[in-house]
Amino acid sequence: MPDFVATDLVKEFETPNEPLRILDGVNVQLNRGENLAVIGPSGSGKSTFLHIAGTLDTPTSGAVELNGSDLNQLAEKDLASFRNKNIGFVFQEHHLLPQLSALENVLIPIVATGETDNDSIEQAKSLLEKVGLSDRMTHRSAELSGGERQRVAVARAMIRSPVLLLADEPTGSLDQANAEKVGQLLLELQQEHNTILMCVTHSERLAGLFQKRVKLENGKFV
Ligand code: ADP
Ligand code: MG
Repeated sequence: MPDFVATDLVKEFETPNEPLRILDGVNVQLNRGENLAVIGPSGSGKSTFLHIAGTLDTPTSGAVELNGSDLNQLAEKDLASFRNKNIGFVFQEHHLLPQLSALENVLIPIVATGETDNDSIEQAKSLLEKVGLSDRMTHRSAELSGGERQRVAVARAMIRSPVLLLADEPTGSLDQANAEKVGQLLLELQQEHNTILMCVTHSERLAGLFQKRVKLENGKFV
């Protein structure tokens, strides 16, 4: 069985009238080391799909399996630690803590579970080096440029070497040079860590670098 399997995902939002069906039978299967770009017009349900894939939301029906675990079956109390260990997120906005250094921001997922040790600090430093920020490690994130902050966010998403890396318009707030750099880093790290990457993007250029591309249209992947 593939490492990531989404089967017949349906998502409806309640409205005063008919429920709004945003996902209408989405299917996707990916193995470790594979990457997928998701494109589609604004409002087509791309973020909704990524949230469901990342256990931040639940489908109305259908299933998501990661490493053979059915994510809908996980108990609410286990979700946060499952997510922390297995899934990395990069959003359009970096969501760094401004008062913490770049290094401390990268370590947040480790600190969250109380296990910071020399190995994780070394790992965080090597990720920051990889994203070209070895000379910015002690800068507070408030002191970094937009492109630098997003590169810190990428390093943070990879600190636990997640099985699944989800990126929602990760380059949407960046100028072209920085967008290119961040997109390339996501793909490089994904390959290095043998992670599954699903990335929502409006950039044809970025989507063109992915092994697979799908368009979300009328609630389905085409
Ligand atoms: P995209 O990321 O492709 O722009 P979204 O997944 O954010 O699209 O949203 C898809 C549609 O679902 C939009 O029309 C949005 O208004 C609607 N939607 C998203 N979340 C909710 C919600 N919690 N309640 C009601 N409607 C929602
Ligand atoms: Mg969106």
